[in-house]
Parts: sequence; C-alpha cells; structure tokens
Amino acid sequence: MNDTTNTETIATSETMEPTKPIGSAEATTAKSAVPTQTAQPKPRVRFAPSPTGKLHVGGARTAIYNWAFARATGGTFILRIDDTDPTRSTEENTQIILRAMRWLGLDWDEGPEVGGDYGPYFQTERVDQYREAAERLVAEGKAYYCFCTPEQLEADRAAARERGDSFQGYQRTCRNLDPAEAQARVDAGEPHTIRIKVPDGRGDVVVKDAVHGEVAFNARELDDFIIFRTDGTPTYNFATVVDDAAMGITHIIRGDDHLSNTPRQVIVYEALGAPVPIFAHISMILGSDGKKLSKRHGATSVEEYRDQGYLSDAFVNYLALLGWAPDGESTVISRERLASEFSLDHVSKNPAIMDPKKLDFINAEYLHAMDDATFASDVIKPELAAAGLDDGTAHDDAWYGLAASAFKPRCTVSRDVAAQMAYLYTADDALEYDEKALKRWVNKQGVPEALAAAQEALAPISSDSWTPEAIEAALDPLPANLGMGKGKVFQPIRVACVGGSASPGIGETLALLGRDHTLARIANLAG
Ligand code: GLU
Repeated sequence: MNDTTNTETIATSETMEPTKPIGSAEATTAKSAVPTQTAQPKPRVRFAPSPTGKLHVGGARTAIYNWAFARATGGTFILRIDDTDPTRSTEENTQIILRAMRWLGLDWDEGPEVGGDYGPYFQTERVDQYREAAERLVAEGKAYYCFCTPEQLEADRAAARERGDSFQGYQRTCRNLDPAEAQARVDAGEPHTIRIKVPDGRGDVVVKDAVHGEVAFNARELDDFIIFRTDGTPTYNFATVVDDAAMGITHIIRGDDHLSNTPRQVIVYEALGAPVPIFAHISMILGSDGKKLSKRHGATSVEEYRDQGYLSDAFVNYLALLGWAPDGESTVISRERLASEFSLDHVSKNPAIMDPKKLDFINAEYLHAMDDATFASDVIKPELAAAGLDDGTAHDDAWYGLAASAFKPRCTVSRDVAAQMAYLYTADDALEYDEKALKRWVNKQGVPEALAAAQEALAPISSDSWTPEAIEAALDPLPANLGMGKGKVFQPIRVACVGGSASPGIGETLALLGRDHTLARIANLAG
C-alpha cells in the first residue's frame, strides 16, 4: 500500500484543476494558499484509529488536532473505528482507545457510544457500503475485476525488470477484459480482486495539503491499485475514502505516514464523484535521538502517561504544542484557548521531538496552579487510595488541605504525592532512615541534646493546638538557646520524623504527622 513514489514535488503543475474547497463559493487557483477553513458548510473532521493497539502519543496528537480544529471552527468531530483488519483489531483495544479519548477530554460529536446521522462508526459494520461502492465503480467502468494470480503478477514484474522498464507495477492485464466475460468468471467463482482504473493521461495527482503545501505524485506510478482483495475485504485506501465521502468529511488531519497513500485516495474520490477534502498531514513524533518514538524512549501510550500521574489537561497542552503554536511563546495553553485558537496555519511540518522534561514542566505548572481543595480531592486522595495508604477517611478536610499546600509545590506528576507522603502512613517503629541523612545530620555531637530540647519544647502543645504555627513558635528559639545553627537543630528533627532530609517546612511536616507520632519518632532517634 505504501509503494507510491512520492515525488516530493511542491507542485507547479498547471495541468490539474485545483480542488474546489468544500463549501467555498469559489475554487482556488493552484497558486493560492491551501485553504484551511471554510465558511459553509461547517467542517467535519474525523479521527479514525485502527484498534490494533493502544492509543499512542502520535495518535493522541492527531486526535487533539482534529478535535481542536472542529471546536475552533464550530465543526463536527467524528470518531470512527477502522477495525477492518480482523487479525489485529480487538474489542479490548477499541475500549482502551475510547477510554484514552475520554481521559484526554476529547469528546466526539458522532461515533461509538454517541451515535450520529452518518453511522455506523465501525468499519466492520459498513462492509456492505464498500462492496456496493466497488460494484458501482465496476458497473460504471471505473474499476474492473482482475483475475491475475500472484505468480502471474510476479512474472510480469520480473519481465518488466528484465526489459529495464522503470515501471514495474501492475501491467493492466485485466483492464480491457470484456466486462460480460469478467462478470461470468466472477459468477463462476473464480478468485479475483477489484482494481480501480487510474484514468489514462491523468497527469500528476496534486495533493493539496494544509501543512505541506501542494505535493505532486506521478499518476503512472499509482498503478491500477486494488480496492477489493481476493478475500472480499476492501483495502484501506478504498474503505477510508468510501467512509470519508459518505460521512461528508471536509478536512483530513492525520499523520504524514499517510501522505503517500493520499494520491490513491484522491483517485478514489474522483472515481466516486465525491469532493476531495482538504488534507493536513502532521509530522511524526520522534524520540530525543531523532528516531521513531518507541518503548526505548519510555512511555508511548496515553495510558502509560495517565498511570504515571500526568494530568489530562497538561498532557493535551503538551501534545498540542508539539508541532503547533499559536504565538511561538506560550507553553501553557488552556484547553479553552486550544479549542478557540487552533488553526492548521500554524502546524509545523518538521518532525516533533518528544521532550519529557518539557512535559514535566508543563505538568508541574498545572499541578501548582490547582487550589488546595482541588489538589486534595483530585490528586492526593486518589493517589493515596491507589497506593493503598488511605481510603480518604483517615483525616479531616483541614488535614488534606494542609497536605495539599505542603506537597503541591514538591510534585511534578500526581504520582509523586504518594511516594512523598508515605512516611505519614508508616508505623513509628517501622520508619526507615536514609543512611546518608543519618550520617550527615544525626550522628553528630550535640544532636541528642537538640532532639531532647525539641521534645521538651513540643510536648506542652496539646493535640488540639498542634498547628504549623504553634510548632514553629515552639521550635524557633531552640537554635539560639542551644547555641547551634538552625540546620543542626531542625534537620535531625526532620530526619527523626520523616526518615530523610527532605520534606515540606518543619511546621507543616510535624503538623501533618500529628503530635503523638512526632514525639514518638523524636524519642526513637533520641534513643
Ligand atoms: N485507520 C488508519 C490509521 O489508524 C486511519 C488513517 C487515516 O486517518 O486515514 O492509520
């Protein structure tokens, strides 16, 4: 399917009438910019994943661009499941994709679970339409039955090679068979494919692409390609066009690995007599080494990012900016802004490089911008529950709110929270101490005295008055009283209470730990 020679020519061809943009009052000329938005009717775009695996970041970005384009233009966003490959498509993968789309917040206007006037939205439920369309093309002389066996095709190829023919594709052997005879052979059950007739003298097929400009493909190289296989299944290039035409798709936004399929699809549109949509082929997402993104680079599926604790809004923001920028400056762009400002004009054709540090940065920005109550309910509680530490009832709202203000600034991804708060859920005598922290802060002269003084200062505070302010007020005079530096006094207390030398402020930390646990842990280390 991918053997088209992409001439990579930005067309200067005068031979083709430029495509009339759907809904536009006038046709554009070959020299004008490729139109990206139309006034009437409203754009209809689709995301058409094949459920052969999980939703990967590249697919997610394609989905985001389609969604944002529909929202920004007041158009319709359609989700279609391209499940025609029976060996690789699974219901489980479909469910994973739908879940990932929902997690990304990419609501679709038509498609699985929501329906719509152009359904069904699963290709396996549309096979009759492909068959009808192919038979119509045969009846109209725009497609034909081909009975060539694989052996014959290989022999033809070998002969062309031998002749030194630069074209080694299908030699159009069955193109001129008598239609009645061909039909009789089909009726007699002879194995056959259906091939489309690439019109003689078709000239270059110029794909109008909103990202790549106009790209010309040599029609001769396209072959009379197969639209129906011997096993009675339609090829991707045929099924997708039958569907896109039937669903009134006006703009096709997809990965540029499909650019080389596009001239064949244009030929199908023309044969069907359907308007050719505007294409926008977006670049691939590569790993930091410039190679195709793969497991080697870390997470590749949407689910994995979700499970690592990235926020949907931040993840969508990050992917949207991977190859699109409204102004070249913003790194944080709300979903609302994306949905109102997205335009194909600012989509880059250069490969996008996945940059985990930038994703972390954006995610942290979103986490830090949450108010404490939201951070507590949407991040802390679910993360602690998932870690099996707290079902959300161990403390009161004030405690979770204090935890939010203490830990929010320290988190890059949601998942950080459970690891950071784990010491608040450990039994006092099971706390593990970091060796380095012990060596650096605890096994020193004067520390037992400092811990004893802390205990003495904190013990009079009742549980009811055990607040960050009261704790700090009690501990504040200690360095001066002991004639020691602040770090020398407070760090051993911290190590005693949390096991290591990093935690939020000492007042907040001890307040969250609670009076009795604090005193018990200080006593444990004071010996
Ligand atoms: N099902 C195809 C894919 O997942 C869709 C390509 C297209 O958008 O036309 O690659």
